[in-house]
Amino acid sequence: MNKVVVVTGGGRGIGAATSALLAAKGYAVCINYLKNSAAAESVAASIHEAGGNVLTFQADVSVESDVEGLFKAAHKAFGPVTHLVNNAGVLFTQSELADISLERFQKVMNANVTSAFLCSKAFINQAKGVGAIVNVSSGAARTGSPFEYIDYASSKGAMDSMTKGLSIELAARNIRVNGVRPGFIHTDMHADGGEPGRVERLAPQIPLKRGGTPEEVAQAIAWLLSDEASYVTGSFIDIAGGR
Ligand code: NAP
Repeated sequence: MNKVVVVTGGGRGIGAATSALLAAKGYAVCINYLKNSAAAESVAASIHEAGGNVLTFQADVSVESDVEGLFKAAHKAFGPVTHLVNNAGVLFTQSELADISLERFQKVMNANVTSAFLCSKAFINQAKGVGAIVNVSSGAARTGSPFEYIDYASSKGAMDSMTKGLSIELAARNIRVNGVRPGFIHTDMHADGGEPGRVERLAPQIPLKRGGTPEEVAQAIAWLLSDEASYVTGSFIDIAGGR
């Protein structure tokens, strides 16, 4: 069977590195993006040039009808979706919990957890037989991100619970569900938190003394999706330089 993967938020950062790596490994890749079509098209163009199969699709993955459209488009282009990377995520300016508005809290939950719920549901309804899901959580699920973004950390904690529960629900169908928990990775996300230089500031406190690259996270995601990880489900890989 063809390997067909949907990568949510696949046009930038960790999602872009994952889309490129999976295409190089022979997956047909559906790159989902929210707003940045130029970034998604640029990743798709390099996959095309290298002879890969790729589709870009705009969808807000926190909206059910958008998610249905995304999975329909992937199916139409490549056949049933066999693999899913729930990678799309947001965070906002560093603040204490008391300064976080309800609107912002709900936005973060929707973008980070509702999206994984909706995409997993669409995937399960379409998947025929074996397959795998990787949820891109965060080291924040372990630390709680005090004074920075407890809303974000809470969303990632919820994602880890979903990973664990769903891995057991789907085990009998031979669909594996795992998570990665990146730590301090060089992407645009830290600028959204109000501190573009956050990774550099924290590097001295990281045992490996540096931030990670999107490509290093992509390698772990690709392994968890692959048959090499055929006996791994309900597991998490921390990719945080030892933190
Ligand atoms: P990024 O560069 O800011 O990329 C985020 C991606 O998510 C973008 O492609 C964006 O689409 C997409 N997105 C956001 N909301 C969406 C929605 N509602 N529907 C569809 N797509 C949406 O961030 P990143 O650092 O690569 O983060 C990727 C994942 O890794 C996130 O889940 C994040 O929480 C996690 N993570 C990152 C770090 C880190 O240090 N960077 C650490 C731990 C975990 P557009 O391109 O269209 O804007």
